[in-house]
Amino acid sequence: MIEETDESFCRRYFGGRGFISYFLLKEVPRGAEPLGPENKLIFATGPVTGVPVPGSGRNSVGAKSPLTNIYGDGEVGGYWGAEFKHAGYDALIVEGKAEKPVYLWIDDDKVQIKDAGHLWGKPTKECQELIHEELGNNNIRVAQIGPAGEKMVRFACIINDLGYACGRCGIGAVMGSKNLRAVAVRGRQKIRVADPEGLSSIAKWYRDNFKNIGWPRMLHSHGTAARFIDINRHGGLPTRNFQTGLFEGAEKVSQDAIVTALKGRRGCYACPVKCKLIVSIDKPYRVDPAYGGPEYETEAALSSVCGIDNLEVLLKASELCNAYGLDTISTGVTIAFAMECFERGILSEGDTDGIRLNFGNAEGMLRLIHLIARREGLGNLLAEGTARAAESIGKGAEEFAMHVKKQEIPLSEPRWKPGTGLGYVVAPQGADHNDNIHDIWYETAIVNELNNFGVFEPVSVNDLGVNKVRLLYYGSMWKQMQNCLVLCWMTSYPVQKIVDIVRATTGWPTSVFELMKMGERCIQMCRYYDIREGMSKGEDKLPERFFTPIESGPLKGYKLDRIVFEKAKNIYYDMAGWDRTTGAPTIGKLQELGIEWIADT
Ligand code: SF4
Repeated sequence: MIEETDESFCRRYFGGRGFISYFLLKEVPRGAEPLGPENKLIFATGPVTGVPVPGSGRNSVGAKSPLTNIYGDGEVGGYWGAEFKHAGYDALIVEGKAEKPVYLWIDDDKVQIKDAGHLWGKPTKECQELIHEELGNNNIRVAQIGPAGEKMVRFACIINDLGYACGRCGIGAVMGSKNLRAVAVRGRQKIRVADPEGLSSIAKWYRDNFKNIGWPRMLHSHGTAARFIDINRHGGLPTRNFQTGLFEGAEKVSQDAIVTALKGRRGCYACPVKCKLIVSIDKPYRVDPAYGGPEYETEAALSSVCGIDNLEVLLKASELCNAYGLDTISTGVTIAFAMECFERGILSEGDTDGIRLNFGNAEGMLRLIHLIARREGLGNLLAEGTARAAESIGKGAEEFAMHVKKQEIPLSEPRWKPGTGLGYVVAPQGADHNDNIHDIWYETAIVNELNNFGVFEPVSVNDLGVNKVRLLYYGSMWKQMQNCLVLCWMTSYPVQKIVDIVRATTGWPTSVFELMKMGERCIQMCRYYDIREGMSKGEDKLPERFFTPIESGPLKGYKLDRIVFEKAKNIYYDMAGWDRTTGAPTIGKLQELGIEWIADT
């Protein structure tokens, strides 16, 4: 069924996370089982998706998360989002469950459900090749789960065009629960925009200037891994399950090591930054360049956090995760959890299928990736994620499960970046790096940009006072706004340029104020959804490890102060208009944003 939306709906919720949270609140019954037919899988673009400016090639996919049991989504780059928009759609909502494996073929306005029995169990590359062959066109864009999504691994992801992962919250498991292997799209329609010349001049400005903007310049040269060694030098590189922040083997798996295997670069629709590395090796493993290469989070998750300094294994592990459709962050952090349990005698070789699972066991990590994706042996337990695995194991394993709200923590150290740590606990989907501020940037780098938000002075990295919390709240609004536009934040557009892009695309006379309010509306909708689904305020917490000192390295002795952290959390609640007792948005805040209807869902 095709539904039309009106302009007031689009202007209030924009797209991406705004659409996903809206449809979850409106259409998914309270208490729905995430892997049951009542849950809905929502692919969403934003108003700027597919228009010819850099950063516009992304899409979001969301659902009630089987990992966290609350709001879940991921965002992904590449070309699928733009292709889908060119087919004439803003969103796709998948309901119920197919009786047998299927895939969806969207060819402009023709939509077909096709048999996927022959695709089931295949790695993502083989599946994509079979779809291309069957439909007779290698330019068809494919978003798909891999075998891990079929097995409903709770941190399975969706892979676009083989190398772009919609990674977090186990959205791939929801797709698997619906027996939906892939969504193939071909779109040939023109996207109408209000001011084509205006958009062209913004795109030209970006092409001419992005190498002068610090972050895109670094991305262009080394991808998101550009700061790996720098982070290690500071002592903030999560190592051996976050026990320390200095990895002695970092050079061997650094950005400079990765580029020795570089075969090319790729990017996303209309973007000159091309921040995705394509790597390949032949020995001792063959690593297929079709799967791209590791970004920072993947790099740290599959090296330092597991104590592994083997470049070839890192590249192979990254490839395997894309071939199976596994979120690399959760995969690495879950394996690191198992390694720590093994080292502390909580797990034995009898539990680990005979693997001596010490930190640094590179072959052991590769084997566990296979076992997790296939849900075999210990892999079946770890496929549940660290929190559930720890609960099953018992014997104090919970202490070593590094998660927030059951989602594994990304590779930023909260004892170094306390604002990021606070961001992990207040984010609607549990620990996530894409909603967040990264404290180091606000000490110097982008303060001028924040003048637009009324932030006039740098805020020091270690600060967790009211200035940092205000920065986090404003930063969260801005990030959510970009999640609703589904515009790549890594392009680092100046604030006013984003306003200009929205104006030129939609013709709406929008402003920074309106966009910030839209981001805030999204924060509140997601938060309300979490509370509605039974999340308690008590779950807004970090693992105990972050309140104990870092063991070694330049940040040795750093820890979060519990009193300061709790105070900062309460300041955030107050700024966000969340009740300090229940953690729920107050009715006044909902009314201010024009979304009081959500209290009746
Ligand atoms: S900056 Fe990188 S991730 Fe963002 S749109 Fe450009 S190529 Fe894609």
